[in-house]
Amino acid sequence: FVSIRNLRKFYGSFEALKGIDLEIEKGEVVCVVGPSGSGKSTLIRCINRLEPFSDDSEIRVDDIPVMPGRALAKVRAEVGMVFQSFNLFPHLTVRENVMLAPRRVRGTSRAEAARQADRLLARVGIGEQADKYPEHLSGGQQQRVAIARALAMEPQVMLFDEPTSALDPEMVGEVLDVMRDLAGTGVTMVVVTHEMGFASQVADRVIFMDGGEVIETGPPDQVLSNPREPRTQNFLSAVL
Ligand code: ATP
Ligand code: MG
Repeated sequence: FVSIRNLRKFYGSFEALKGIDLEIEKGEVVCVVGPSGSGKSTLIRCINRLEPFSDDSEIRVDDIPVMPGRALAKVRAEVGMVFQSFNLFPHLTVRENVMLAPRRVRGTSRAEAARQADRLLARVGIGEQADKYPEHLSGGQQQRVAIARALAMEPQVMLFDEPTSALDPEMVGEVLDVMRDLAGTGVTMVVVTHEMGFASQVADRVIFMDGGEVIETGPPDQVLSNPREPRTQNFLSAVL
């Protein structure tokens, strides 16, 4: 469903991604792990072309080439993204944050967008917070709003870049629970995370990256419990 061939990315002369090949099936949950600077964020930012990449690389989402031009808007409408920093609009209420993209991009009516927002906020467990402003929510609640906001466009693929790294420890669980529920609904997910417990329980496949390359990939009980590659072993012994 997401097809990545020979993905190369340069920042100036620095090669951040050195020819990544990756096929992600519809409904698959893929967790990406690896040391700082290994290219995890760059990889997922290329999927909806938040980062441009080399001309000799190819990414397709739902068989649509992720290239500059008219089709890019279509790809972006199918791909939701959640970042470490929640990036909510501070001057909009929680409900209005979730309504914004359907209203602007799809022209959904105000009443319908509001109904949908309330449904999504209930689904992520914060139905009562709809009229508040983001600053009055905890970090865990804000991140759940960010997830609801991404879901409002009914994406086929959800990309998460360390969604719990900025949270106080007691709030990590509530966000991971929402992601775990989402994984059960058939949404294709690519999750950059340091939460090895989440990866081992929820991922269909784990990808270990280092130095801009995929070093090892496989089911979590292989990559996380019985890694073959020394670099994976070293990384895991440092983080676990
Ligand atoms: P972390 O775990 O710290 O988030 P990461 O695996 O997500 O790391 P990336 O952010 O993808 O790593 O960065 C990969 C490499 O590309 C790093 O060496 C980084 O310094 C470099 N890099 C990232 N963004 C830029 C940029 N905008 N300009 C130049 N170099 C960059
Ligand atoms: Mg990163």
